[in-house]
Amino acid sequence: MPVEEVFIGIGGNMGDSSNIVIQAIDCLTKLTNTRMKAQSSLYLSEPVSEIPQNDYVNAVVLVETSLQPLELLLELQAIEHAFYRYRDPNLKWAPRTLDLDIILFGSRSLNDSHLKIPHPEMQNRLFVLEPLFEISGDLYIPGLGSLKYLIDKAPAIEINALSTISNSADRK
Ligand code: AMP
Repeated sequence: MPVEEVFIGIGGNMGDSSNIVIQAIDCLTKLTNTRMKAQSSLYLSEPVSEIPQNDYVNAVVLVETSLQPLELLLELQAIEHAFYRYRDPNLKWAPRTLDLDIILFGSRSLNDSHLKIPHPEMQNRLFVLEPLFEISGDLYIPGLGSLKYLIDKAPAIEINALSTISNSADRK
């Protein structure tokens, strides 16, 4: 079956966020027809919001999958729900236990009502770009530019690596 490399962004700021992000990564390693290839450190980042809330814990992983984009999105939403993700439709940037986003899916570009790829906000989110740089520093995103360029241009936020988690997944 053809496989594609997919970068997934992970974040949360309610509950024991480091633990939730680590558990979410564990769930991703068990996804059907999917193999974990690399995972970033955990990062602590300041919230981008008018609503007062805790700092976020973020990470990015690289998986190889034969799932189709919408199939993967459904799997990610099932993991979010397993962590009691509640989404208030009226609030943008509301606090959340777990958020899983597809950042890049191979070289695909998708503009479905449920799924946009590349993730339309990736270039504005240092909390995605920094962990992405850690695991795949030489990425070039068609239409957007090099990852280094995007990092230099992105709105500044306070973001710090918390830890390096298990590097058992080998990046080929
Ligand atoms: P959020 O509140 O940021 O988790 O947004 C979730 C919604 O964004 C879901 O209803 C998805 O259908 C939609 N969405 C669009 N593009 C993406 C993407 N690349 N990754 C994850 N969710 C996406």
